[in-house]
Order: sequence, then C-alpha cells, then structure tokens
Amino acid sequence: MAEKPDSVPAGPESPKVLNAGLAANDPKTSKACAMCNEPSTQRCKQCQSTRYCSTQCQKDDWPLHKLLCKSFENFRDTRPSTHHKRAIYFPETGDQPVFAWIYVEENGGDIYALVFGEGVSETPRNIAMDRMNFNCVLNRRLEKIIELKTFRDNMTRGKNQSLLKVNKELSESRRGPILAVGLEYSCNYSAVDLDPMDLRHIVDNLRVIYDRGKRLDQEGARSSIDGVPGVRINCMGDVFLSGAQYEAINIPASQRNTMSQYPTPICQHIGLPLVIHTIPPTLAWRGRHISPTGIPQRTDTNRLAKILVHSAAPLAGSVAVFRKDGRALLPGHLRALVDYSFATFDVRDVIGKDIFSIASKKTFLIYFEKWRAEELGGTRGDLVSPYDV
Ligand SMILES: [Zn+2]
Ligand SMILES: [Zn+2]
Repeated sequence: MAEKPDSVPAGPESPKVLNAGLAANDPKTSKACAMCNEPSTQRCKQCQSTRYCSTQCQKDDWPLHKLLCKSFENFRDTRPSTHHKRAIYFPETGDQPVFAWIYVEENGGDIYALVFGEGVSETPRNIAMDRMNFNCVLNRRLEKIIELKTFRDNMTRGKNQSLLKVNKELSESRRGPILAVGLEYSCNYSAVDLDPMDLRHIVDNLRVIYDRGKRLDQEGARSSIDGVPGVRINCMGDVFLSGAQYEAINIPASQRNTMSQYPTPICQHIGLPLVIHTIPPTLAWRGRHISPTGIPQRTDTNRLAKILVHSAAPLAGSVAVFRKDGRALLPGHLRALVDYSFATFDVRDVIGKDIFSIASKKTFLIYFEKWRAEELGGTRGDLVSPYDV
C-alpha cells in the first residue's frame, strides 16, 4: 500500500517540471532520478538542477528539495574565487540547511583549510570526517564523494536546529553544525561543488545512520525486564538496511498495546498463538512511494508476515511478532512457523483440504524436528521446541 505523501504546497512554491530540452538520446537523461533508480526525464524547473523520472518522485522530494531549490540561483555564478567550492551547511542554530561557499586550500591531498560557515573558522584537526560514496536507500553509488564534517566536541554543543525542517528525530540526534563538502573520485580527492540533489543523498544517509542507531538501542534494551522477547520480520527495505530478515527484539508492553494488531489463525490452531504488530516506517522510508524499478521499498508487501496472518489484505512494512501467552518468541521458532505455514498452504493446494484440517500441533512438531535438522544442522540442539520455552 502506498504511503501518504507529505503535503506539497500549492502556489508559487510548488515544484515546476521542465520536460522540454532533454531528448531521449540526451546523455543527461540516462542519469538516475533523485528519488529512485529510474533514468531521469525531467528536471526541477526552478533550480534546473535536480533530476526526476516522474512528477511523483518530484513531489516526494519536494518537502526536502524546497529547502535549497530557490537559493540555488544565488550560488550558481557568484563563486568568490577559484578556491571556493559550493558546500551544504547545516548550522547549529539556523532554521534550515543552506548553501555556503567554502574556501578550500588543497595541500597535497585531502587536508585543507576551510571556513566552517557563520564566520566560524576551524582547523581540520577539530573536525571529524565521515565520507559517503553510496546511497543505501537507493542502493546506488553517488556521482561524487560527500564528506560530512562535524566537530569532535559535538556532544558539548547544542542540538542541530537546522535539521528540524528535515526531521525532528534527526535534529534531536545531531549536535553542533555539519558541513557537507563534495570530493571527486580521484587519487587526490579534489573538492567539487555540491548541488541541490546532493541534499537528498546527505539526508538519506543521515536517516540510515539514525535508523541503525535506533536498532542498536533496541538491541541494548533486549535484556530489559520490561517486555517479552519477540521477533521483528523486516520488510524488503529494512532487510536491505539491516541485512537480516528476522531480528530478535524486545519492545516494552506499554508500547506494544498502541500498535495495530493482526491475529495468526494457523499458529492459534496449533497452540502457539502469536500477535503481529505493524511497525511505523523507519525514517529512511518515510514519504517515498513504490517504484517500478524494484528498489527495495518498505511499502512492498511483507509476504512472510502475510502468510502468518492468512489474509488477502496487503500487509506492508516491517512487523513485530510476539507470543500471546507472554513467553519468549525466538527467531528460530518464528522462521519455523513461517515455513510451516507456507508448507501447509502448499499441501492445501495439492489435496484441496481446509488448512485447519491439515495443521495441528502434531504435524508442526514433526515438521519442526525435520526443519531444525535441515536448517540448523549441528547446532539444532540449541533450539528447544516452542512448546517447551
Ligand atoms: Zn524517480
Ligand atoms: Zn529545484
């Protein structure tokens, strides 16, 4: 199910599309869209810089893109000197990211003196550098390296207010100013200008870092006594970000009650009732739509969760699964239950019987023994039957 887009303001602030000027054989059209991996066919009319495959992708990008779009014209032809490069600056106290000219003095490599915006001059040794050359949300290499410079003493600085217009969560998780500088792919990493489209890559990257940090927090809370161990089934998008289909989680009981719930008929029938809760999209996937290119999207149906729920309705996004009886649900148990559910439906399709006359505690236990030997091999002794937890 497509997620609701962020609102696109009407009137003079709305994005305008320029279709003319980019013929199908123009090499520029083969460059990918800012929001997905489709080739771009149009550019934002106002900045004439950011590329899109469709009006939909342009609309999705607009809440972020509008922060830099209009000011770009003031940063096109006003370069103070050839030593200056166009950077994107996230001031600590400003109300949004801005373009900034930074003075770059290259010195036989990647060390340069720079002016850190707002008249603050910092020497490189006070600055931590984070290089990105890949957009994990799009699964695509960037056209240039983007280096994020933050102060090493950032924990003593205030929250980054300029990220408030991007995401409240990002603003609260980042302290001190951030300067983004472009570098070319070459042995001496010469500085290059950043463009409005680079804001999308920077923010995608900051969101992924935030989401991964949240995940680690949850891992840390797993041993907490408030709550029961459960399992998260990741949607395609989150599998891509975390690398795992099933993850052990522990969400406090108070939070679980606020989530929408789905019953699990087969599991209920075999005496292992589960409850499935949908999880709100992680930051990286918010405000994006299903794309025909097949980039991993959170909005795709979570087919593993859907087989447990046994419903025709689409079930999108990652889900949290717990046992109704309050006992621990282990990732191995859930994997076995999902595989057993698929097998039960396969048998139903062959013999045409009702799934509830095929599924039983007895058939599950037989299946589980075989599954454990096949899937876990020599370590199978470590996973007890879910009836014995
Ligand atoms: Zn697109
Ligand atoms: Zn624009």
